[in-house]
Formats: sequence, structure tokens, C-alpha cells
Amino acid sequence: MRERFESILGAERVVSEPAALDAYNDDYSEHDPVTPVLALLPESVEQVQAIVRLAAELRVPLTPRVAGTNVGGLAIPPQGGVVVDLRRMNRVIAVHAEDMVAVIEPGVTQQQLKDHLESAGLPLTFGFSLGPRRSSVLANLTLDGLTNRSVKYGSMGEWAAGFEVVLADGSVARTGAWALSDLPFAKSPFPDLSGLFIGWQGTTGIVTKAAFHLAPKHPLNERLFILAYSTRGTYEAMRRLCRLETCDDIGGLSWPTGKMMLGVPRPHPVPDDGEPRFFLYVDLTAEAHEELAYKREALRGVLEALRAGGEKFEDPLDVSTLVKINLAMGKFASFPTDLDFLTDHPGKGLTWIGTYGPLSRFDEAADEGVRIMVEHGVAPAIVSRAMKDGHFGVLRFLAIFDKKNPEEIARVKAVNLALLRAMTDRGFVMYKTPPWALRELQSRIDPGMWELMRRVKSVLDPQGILNPGKLLLP
Ligand SMILES: Cc1cc2nc3c(=O)[nH]c(=O)nc-3n(C[C@H](O)[C@H](O)[C@H](O)COP(=O)(O)OP(=O)(O)OC[C@H]3O[C@@H](n4cnc5c(N)ncnc54)[C@H](O)[C@@H]3O)c2cc1C
Repeated sequence: MRERFESILGAERVVSEPAALDAYNDDYSEHDPVTPVLALLPESVEQVQAIVRLAAELRVPLTPRVAGTNVGGLAIPPQGGVVVDLRRMNRVIAVHAEDMVAVIEPGVTQQQLKDHLESAGLPLTFGFSLGPRRSSVLANLTLDGLTNRSVKYGSMGEWAAGFEVVLADGSVARTGAWALSDLPFAKSPFPDLSGLFIGWQGTTGIVTKAAFHLAPKHPLNERLFILAYSTRGTYEAMRRLCRLETCDDIGGLSWPTGKMMLGVPRPHPVPDDGEPRFFLYVDLTAEAHEELAYKREALRGVLEALRAGGEKFEDPLDVSTLVKINLAMGKFASFPTDLDFLTDHPGKGLTWIGTYGPLSRFDEAADEGVRIMVEHGVAPAIVSRAMKDGHFGVLRFLAIFDKKNPEEIARVKAVNLALLRAMTDRGFVMYKTPPWALRELQSRIDPGMWELMRRVKSVLDPQGILNPGKLLLP
């Protein structure tokens, strides 16, 4: 098999050394590692097509991968599988500045795209995830992830304007307006086949280019942190701020997350009396100082109204002031960023139950999640934010652990299972869902939806060579 792939790519683009292959066998999470039999490093669409055709002939599973930072085991191959490492396909193909559309390859990282826009002097930006700088923008689009622009735009799949995809038979298709127009301006108006590649975890095709919308970057910006003393106060502020449409981002970090950020590696699970419960953070941007002043005033009004109702908040502090008090806050000063307190600690393990759910239920769901984590002896670290003008939001419970300690692995598995059940009971849906969680949810997901997913998969990938096992699909 190696020789066959080498004849397509050249020996230098086929990784077969066991030590080098180990780099592809896991991610930060508790999922069991699986070392691929080969890793392939294509540099062009034609090479991806040839890889897929050969894999179909040999019936070898292919797992696309860029940085492997998804925290759900989604880029870990099945036994006997081959990883398609897309990091060398890393060109920014085009930026249509007037239409605010970018076209990129899978290997383009968050940092690279930001640098590209800045060096071109374009007042444009895009949604940054809190994932590492080296993570793929395209992967987060296809995973329908969340970003610092989700308050206005929703999950990242909504930014997609069209994809170029290599299908399981090696053919190439373009979705969205791109199927006809040279400028991929929107997913509309043809049938929305871009959706066949959003949320599918690489099981329906290998996306070789993504066209997506950029956002205007305003010259004035402020990131404010507000200490909040109750769950209700935090989320009521979030809901009210959404209705004003004045904030670019509105998030809530529970106190243990805040402490981790400030350098406490393993905060105590139970907060001390009188400690705040949340960091509420808010991004404001504006074209003019008057506009920024109005937005600040609107925020103050929301906090005052809640204070009048008995909630307690400290006054907002700008992140630049906080960085002067504690340098660690620099991690939150600008995006993308590397949250090394989550990824680069001695134990190396990071896991979470990340859910999308209705903001109206956040108070009770967050409190229940905290209760479950404390019961399991895990510091209740929450990262949450409003999305799509408050129509929903993300509520994510995270834990760091020692990957070499079986007891800690067992503990995070137990807490994740309990959190998954509790959040599902409350109508929340886990995103980037790993197979173990889908097995747990199998009997609860609409059977018609399961059947439809299976039918779509069998049409798009009849031999089951594209990331089989993910989404419990063959
Ligand atoms: C500390 C930390 C914070 C994070 N914060 C966030 C956050 O705020 N928001 C968020 O959404 N995510 C977050 N993440 C998760 C992760 O960083 C993002 O989802 C990231 O975009 C994944 O990119 P990647 O290059 O690591 O993809 P990978 O992990 O390599 O791949 C992810 C999935 O996409 C598939 N895939 C990759 N490329 C292709 C392709 N070309 N075609 C088809 N399928 C493909 C893979 O098979 C896999 O299923 C965070 C991760 C960490 C470690």
C-alpha cells in the first residue's frame, strides 16, 4: 500500500515511520489513541482525488486531519486507517474584500488568516475560536464550531458560502453560488448542499476549499470583564445584552475557569464564601467614540437594572487594565490565542462536554453542571457565550487531567457521562459529538434523523472509506 501512495505523492509526502505516525494517534482528550498505518501529506486537489480513488480501490479508511485540536477524538483514525494530513494545503486562495468573502484551503490556520488580512491592510476579520493559533479555520467551519463573533453570526457553519469537496469516488463538487458564479458569495440560492459537509466530521467528503464570509473590523474595540456573583445575574445580563444588539461577544467564564486563566492550575472545586461566581466578558467595537460610549452606557444600564433587582456585579474592567494587574490576562487580550493553561500543563489532558442550548435554561443547567462536577471532585470550569443574538448559546464544562493517570481518566469519563445526561435532559445538544456520546444518546435521537443520516452517508460514501465510525456511521 505504501508504494502505491508513494507513486501518487512521492516518498517524502508519505509518513510511515512508527515514531512519526505516533504524532497522529491522539488529541488532547481521553479518547484511546490509534496509530494510523500511514499519514499522507497532499499539496493539491488532484493529489487528494488520487488518494481517495486509491483508498476506494484498496478499501482503506481515510481520516482528514489538520491540527488535531478538536478535543473529541474526531481526527483519530479507526484501526488500519490512513490519516490525510492537510497542513500543506495552506493557501489563502482569494480575499474578495468588497464582498467580504475569503476562499481558503484546509491547512490555513487562525493565526495565518489573521496575519494575511492584516498584512493586506484589510479592515476585515473573522470569528476566532479559543482553539490554538495553529488550528484550521476550515475545520471549524465544517465542525460548525463557535467563535468570538457567534453572538451576531451564530455557529461557524453559518459563515460558510460554499465548499469545494473531493467526494468518495474522487470527483470534485462545488456547493453554493460557487456552482455557477466565479465569486462564491453565498450558500444560497440552490439547494443547500454545503450542509452535507457541515457537522459531518469528515465522513461525507474531504473539503479542499472553503469560501466563507468575513466581517468588518471596526477601529475601536474594548474587551470588558465584569465580576458577577450569581449564575442568574450572569445569564440574565447575557440575555438582556443580546436584545440590545450592541455587543460583538458576550461570554461567561465560571470562577474556576477564571482562576485557571490567572495561573491556578487546579482550583479547588468549591468556591470560597464571598468569591464571585463568574467573569462576564463583553466585546464592544465601534467606528466612532460616540458609538463606543453609547455601547458602554447600554452595558452600564443593564448592570444597574440588575443591581436594582438585587444582583451583585463589580464595575467593568478593560482587559488592558487587567493585564497590568496580572500578566496572565494577556491570554485573553487578543485572538487567536494559545490557552496553554488548558493544553500545556504537566498532565496534557483536556476534555469537555460542550453543548448548544437555549439561553432561557442556562441558569439551571449551569448550576446543575457545577453540582455534578463538584460531586465528582472536579473544579467546575465553565466557558459559555450567547450565540445568534441570543437565540441559543454554548455551555461548555471542561476539565484538565493527567493523560497518564488511569484514575483521572476514569474520573473525567464519569463526569462527562453525568454532564452529558444532565444537559441532554434539559434540551441541550452536545456539539462535535464523539462516538461514545452518540452511543449514549442513540435511543433518544429522532429515529427518522438517524435513518436519513445513514442514507446520506451510503449515497455519498458507499464503501465507508471516509472517517468511518465517526457519528456512528459505517
Ligand atoms: C484550548 C482549546 C480551545 C478551543 N476552543 C474552541 C472554541 O472556542 N470554539 C470551537 O469551535 N472550537 C474550539 N476548540 C476546538 C478546535 O480547536 C477547533 O474545532 C478547531 O477548529 C479544529 O481544527 P483542527 O485543525 O484542530 O481540526 P482537526 O481536529 O484536525 O479536525 C477536526 C475534524 O474535522 C475533520 N476535517 C479536518 N479537515 C477536514 C477537511 N478538509 N474536510 C473534511 N473534514 C475535515 C477531521 O476529520 C475531524 O473530524 C478548542 C480547542 C482547544 C484545544
